[in-house]
Amino acid sequence: MAKGKAPRRAIESYTLRQINKTIKAGDCVLMRPAERSKQQYVARIERIEADTRGGNVKVHVKWYYRPEESIGGRRQFHGSKEIFSSDHYDVQSVDTIEAKCTVHSFKSYTKLDAVGNEDYFCRFEYNSCTGAFNPDRVAVYCKCEMPYNPDDLMVQCEGCSDWFHPACIEMTEEEAKRLDHFFCETCLPEGQKKLRNSHANSRHSNTKVDTKRLRR
Ligand SMILES: [Zn+2]
Ligand SMILES: [Zn+2]
Repeated sequence: MAKGKAPRRAIESYTLRQINKTIKAGDCVLMRPAERSKQQYVARIERIEADTRGGNVKVHVKWYYRPEESIGGRRQFHGSKEIFSSDHYDVQSVDTIEAKCTVHSFKSYTKLDAVGNEDYFCRFEYNSCTGAFNPDRVAVYCKCEMPYNPDDLMVQCEGCSDWFHPACIEMTEEEAKRLDHFFCETCLPEGQKKLRNSHANSRHSNTKVDTKRLRR
């Protein structure tokens, strides 16, 4: 009889008894890191396979990278739940899967009412060899011209619709949250300077300035 690898077959889904969850191709999961001190790895399952008796179950995965795992490292605009889709594939034992998770698009992540432990978002594809990102440019906001970090509070100017960090317009977060109206320096008409950036103790307390940030 010819020697060789035991035949293996693809399986549609698999139930992880340790967490009582069923996984299938396309699901995102958190996997046990090589070192206990490290954060869990995030992966997307491409394919599940087992030997002919249904044992020795392995998952083919595509890794997501966390900002600190990328060549360029974590930048100020990277969100705490941001991960990058990568071109790095691997095969792992199903036993290393510790939880299921959800990887949202940037847009749907910013619309979440609350961010759970299992919620992540991805807006960049990452090339694990070159360290390059796709897209390599994103919209920037505020005087500091930074891409949007969904963890940060920002207020919107009613003139130009640009978004600003309270710290960049010399305001505390508490002050920013209490604003009724906000016009940035550029949009503020000279004559209205006295009315600028009035606070919620006026009669218009229902027309708060739009602020963006997710509850965590
Ligand atoms: Zn800023
Ligand atoms: Zn403005």
